[in-house]
Amino acid sequence: MHVKEDEVLAGLSEITFFGGTGGIGGNKILVEAGDARFFLDHGQSFSFGNRFFTGWLSPRESRTGLKDYLALNLIPPVQGLYSARVLEGTCLEHGAPAFDAIFISHVHYDHLAHLRFVDADIPVHMGITTKRMLDSWECTSSGVNFGPHDYHAFKTGNIVHVGDCDIEPVHVDHSTPAAYGLIVHAPEGAIVYTGDLRLHGPMAHMTRDFIDKAKEAEPVAMICEGTRVAPVETRKDTSEHQVLAGAINTVKRARELVIVSFYNRDVDRIKTYHQVAVATGRQFVVSMKVAHLIKSLVDDPGIIVPDPFSDPHMLVYKRTLKRFFKWQKEIMSSDEAIVDANYIHEHQEELILHLDFTHFNEIIDIQPNPGSIYINSMSEPFSEDDIEDLVKDNWLQHFQVERVQLHASGHCSMDEIFSMVNEINPNVVFPVHTEHPMLFMGNVTPEVKVPTAGEKFTV
Ligand SMILES: [Zn+2]
Ligand SMILES: [Zn+2]
Repeated sequence: MHVKEDEVLAGLSEITFFGGTGGIGGNKILVEAGDARFFLDHGQSFSFGNRFFTGWLSPRESRTGLKDYLALNLIPPVQGLYSARVLEGTCLEHGAPAFDAIFISHVHYDHLAHLRFVDADIPVHMGITTKRMLDSWECTSSGVNFGPHDYHAFKTGNIVHVGDCDIEPVHVDHSTPAAYGLIVHAPEGAIVYTGDLRLHGPMAHMTRDFIDKAKEAEPVAMICEGTRVAPVETRKDTSEHQVLAGAINTVKRARELVIVSFYNRDVDRIKTYHQVAVATGRQFVVSMKVAHLIKSLVDDPGIIVPDPFSDPHMLVYKRTLKRFFKWQKEIMSSDEAIVDANYIHEHQEELILHLDFTHFNEIIDIQPNPGSIYINSMSEPFSEDDIEDLVKDNWLQHFQVERVQLHASGHCSMDEIFSMVNEINPNVVFPVHTEHPMLFMGNVTPEVKVPTAGEKFTV
């Protein structure tokens, strides 16, 4: 999986797929065009290390850096990419950075988590708001630290020059704000990268903008996500607006507490439940982590979010902890908005409580009255024997809480993906971020090439 510089064919661009193949997530795609060498995303796949580690048998990353990952071929042995710290004691020697940049399409773990291994001298480009969200994430989650980097922030309309290439980020709609598709204007023709995107979200027009720009570029190659490309579509085709309407109906019929779980950085979903609270005359109680995230976005000109500390329909939940981190103490200083388990117990019919699955123990302190409703506002379990989901059900049944499912996917449907590929009309399309890349074949007009891990293509 070594990048062999002597293989570079004069005048053509090369794309190497170090991640994003063979499943959903973990995108890590090297583009070599003209004199430029840079990565599109640097994520960790959801199944990373599953073949070798389970339960108490875990990688020794905190002690031995990349040693285990390199030995087990979980990380490609690329020269001039990793920091001296993570290479210490491994089979790979640290060398001067050999890459010009890393572009991050959006703030999801499966697109940026391996930044934590990268040499601090390699410039990292991401959206302005992506960086704000990343900072909040690192501040509020122990163990989340992507390391020091030479960060650069972009927005739609900017062009980032890297050697002979111009990289044009164009906003797209996804289940996190500040998601981008990237158009690489390379000397031998454009390469289009979708990142993750959807066409049924509140900002669908942004994805349309990306498709229009991508089409205009007349690309030689397109790297396209296919999360929902599958023989049988298991996810419901719900829009964010339908989640809003469904949640309003559910909350209206609730006589006691309403609890909701969603992905922490899904800002659209946070806004949706704020709207539900307004429409039903309740208050929306968010975790401190979510409060910190929204607070960091309140003065962002591109995003409208309710201020958790001054909006009459919002409160912030203080968990039962013995010690608080500095950032939590700062949040608690705005004490009018802070409520605890006792408050929630006493005001059940007035509240919608955001509660992450990992904090379900709080239900013991809150003691919801029987007849309370739990809204699972995230993906349905991928399999019927999903342990986390079974445990969730056990908690809800124990406390006699009814369960409701309401979620809108962050990804285009299969048909939308195929239409988008046909509309952009590249010479060749590389499916990534999908379990069923072969399904692209015969369903789109351009030639389809299915990459395997570490495979290099010339375009
Ligand atoms: Zn993804
Ligand atoms: Zn994503």
